[in-house]
Amino acid sequence: MSTPKNIVIIGGGLAGAKTAEALREKEFTGSIMLVAAEDHLPYERPPLSKEYLAGKGSFDDAVVKPADWYEENNVTLKQGVRATKVDAANHQVTLDDDSVLDYDKLVLATGSAVRKLPIPGADADNVYYLRTVE
Ligand SMILES: Cc1cc2nc3c(=O)[nH]c(=O)nc-3n(C[C@H](O)[C@H](O)[C@H](O)COP(=O)(O)OP(=O)(O)OC[C@H]3O[C@@H](n4cnc5c(N)ncnc54)[C@H](O)[C@@H]3O)c2cc1C
Repeated sequence: MSTPKNIVIIGGGLAGAKTAEALREKEFTGSIMLVAAEDHLPYERPPLSKEYLAGKGSFDDAVVKPADWYEENNVTLKQGVRATKVDAANHQVTLDDDSVLDYDKLVLATGSAVRKLPIPGADADNVYYLRTVE
């Protein structure tokens, strides 16, 4: 199997950012594109409920890698853009800004989404869901 030259990672959470980090640590020299739907640097979610909401830490404490890490490691981070279609036969991903990315290898690191409580009262104003920094 030939070494891929071009890896696209969909999902800018912990798994996506750590995949990029591991690839560079393992001396992968090809191109890495990280597509992140959230318009933030990839961050860890546990600190949101443990520190950030309690005012004990800033958002910067939760980011996986600072912005300059992506530049220094030649990882292209596309923030605020969502992948909408994967064409596995042609090795292409379409994004919601209508751009199309070619890839040799694709990593799906899209995580999960909040599951809403299916019980009476779950839609009350004082019921909150915590998944993102917003
Ligand atoms: C408040 C909170 C506290 C937590 N505390 C703990 C804890 O104490 N211990 C623990 O083990 N776990 C904890 N977790 C769970 C842990 O954060 C998750 O397991 C972890 O975030 C999973 O990382 P991930 O990168 O796989 O997915 P995610 O963090 O869900 O990241 C996936 C990313 O992919 C993006 N994405 C999805 N679809 C697309 C698309 N089509 N195109 C582009 N981007 C896309 C999403 O917007 C998201 O940013 C906590 C979670 C929360 C919300």
